[in-house]
Formats: sequence, structure tokens, C-alpha cells
Amino acid sequence: MTHRSSSRNLGRFTGPAGPLLGLALALLVACFAAMVGSCGQAPAPQNGRLLVVSTTGMINDVVRSIGGERVDARALMGEGVDPHLYKATPGDVRLLSGAAVVFYNGLHLEGRMGDVLENLASRRPVVAVAEAIDPARLRSPPEFEGHPDPHVWFDVELWSDVARTVRDALVKIDPAGKDAYAAAAEQYLARLDELHTWCREQIQRIPEPSRLLITAHDAFGYFGRAYGLEVMGIQGISTDSEASLRDIAHLVDILVERKVPAVFVESSVPRKTIDALVEGCKARGHAVAIGGELFSDAMGPDGGETGTYIGMVRHNVNTIVHALAPGGGATSPASEGAPSGAPDAQPAGTAR
Ligand SMILES: [Zn+2]
Repeated sequence: MTHRSSSRNLGRFTGPAGPLLGLALALLVACFAAMVGSCGQAPAPQNGRLLVVSTTGMINDVVRSIGGERVDARALMGEGVDPHLYKATPGDVRLLSGAAVVFYNGLHLEGRMGDVLENLASRRPVVAVAEAIDPARLRSPPEFEGHPDPHVWFDVELWSDVARTVRDALVKIDPAGKDAYAAAAEQYLARLDELHTWCREQIQRIPEPSRLLITAHDAFGYFGRAYGLEVMGIQGISTDSEASLRDIAHLVDILVERKVPAVFVESSVPRKTIDALVEGCKARGHAVAIGGELFSDAMGPDGGETGTYIGMVRHNVNTIVHALAPGGGATSPASEGAPSGAPDAQPAGTAR
């Protein structure tokens, strides 16, 4: 955009005032345009890399892993941000408009970004990664009222499909990078394969009656299906609705009956609903612990272990096994130290 407008100005100023003055003015205009560009929220990609914008951190991590040095990968939603509630800012729209390709989850995960993404799709390559998965592999439980569950990232096998979709889209946009993308994708897919096996082994360490995962909202349906855990969320498909008192009372019944030792908080969902559950159990004489914080719809801080997709999944599995299996903590080459779930940590909630 800035380049186009500065060359238009160059044409206007060379003319009656003479080529030298015209050139000086054009340089000034070009410098100003460059300054505006560098101060804006949508800087051009550095060193000729492709600007690739993703909505969630999980998708961005796949782009980063497969795109490597060839891409400038950016995520709109950072740590603790709830994608169900997220609205695009003017800066996001600028960034999206400058992207070589945009990846989003789809299946209505980004429920309040529909118009922006639809609009963009007429001007830019836009890929809904979860919508590229074979629909037969998606969950459509009744409580989701006919919509498929969008939280596909917690079945690592489904996420491998997403990695292939990202790889293919990058090759299409940047055919010169085909070999680099294919090689990086192969490595990444091997790591996902290993992670998938590890998750299954770890969850099997939990005694069967305790394989019940209760969290603030229904983000873990695919996780439960893939690794053999029953999953219940206090809220439904989206965080965009208040949990009803009846739902909470029903879950209290189950926790008390099955003597489930722990429930979990989520980094991107306010914990008040989980607190209500703990209080409800206490009133019935059953002590239920908060087993730790799980990352559901957003990753942890950039640069930390949970700031990567693989690190986030490992953290969740370690936290769940630690709270639900007698004797605690998961051990394996895929785990790095003790679970870092901090029961007292306040989740960030929605950032906007
Ligand atoms: Zn969610």
C-alpha cells in the first residue's frame, strides 16, 4: 500500500517544478511512508519472508514449525485470549490485509470474526484448517446443536492433518520453498506421531473410574475421544454463555458419586464456574481439588514451554495424570520435569 501511494506521488511532483525538486519531494514522501509503515501495527515482513497470519497461537505454531526461515509467522490471539469472544482490532485487519496467506481454525471457533474473515477471503488466500479435516472425523455431539466441535487441536492425529493442510497451502503460495516445507513438515509430523503415542500411554496410567475430565467449557471432547477419557464441560461449546446452576448441580452429583479427586481450570476461561463446583462438592462432604490449569483455547507465554503446541499438550497431559492417577506425575521422555499447573494461579481470562 505505502509503496503504491509513494510512486503515485512521484509522478505528480515531477513535472512543472523540475525533476530535482520532484525527486527531493518524492524522497520525502517515500521516507514519510516508510516511517508510517514502521510505526503501524502491520509492518512488512522482514528480509523478504512471507507474512503469514493465523488467528490462534496453536495454528501459528504449526506455521512457524513448517515455514521456518521462509515465513514471518504472526498470531492475532496471544496468551490467555479466548477465541470464541475475540473481535478483530483495526490493527489486526491491517495485518491480515498484508498477509500472503491467512490461516484460521473455522467451524465457528472464531465466532466474532466471521465477517472480517469472509471479507478477507475475497481478496487474500484464506484457509480454515479445521474445515479441511474429513467431516466424518469431526465430533458433532447433541449439546453442540448441529455444529461440529471446533476444538480439533487436542486430538494430535487430527492436528497432524492440519499440519499437512498448512504445508500444502505454503507450497501453493511459495512453490520455491516446496522442499524446505516438505522436509520441515516431515520432521514435525514425526514429533506429533510420538506425542500422540505418549498421550495415550500416559492417560492409561489413570485408574478407569477416575478417567473423568471436568473443565470449565467443552474444549476437550476430541482429547477424551482420542485418549480414552470421559469429558464434561460446565459450559457448552462456546464460552459465550453462562453455565446454568442446574448444570453445576448435575456435575456435583457425578463428582460425589464417582469420588473424582480433581477438576481443572483453563487458562482462557474465568475460573468462577470451577470454584462453584468445588464449593458444591464441599457442601456435600466431598473434597475435590483443583488439579491445575489446563491450556484449552490458547497457549502459554511465547518463549516458554507451553508457548508451543507440543509443550501445551504435554503440560495438559502431565497436569491431568498428576491430579487423577494415584502416585501422581507423568514420567516419560516426552515430559519435561514436573507438571507446572499452578492451582492458585489466576487464569488470564479474556484479554478483550
Ligand atoms: Zn473453546
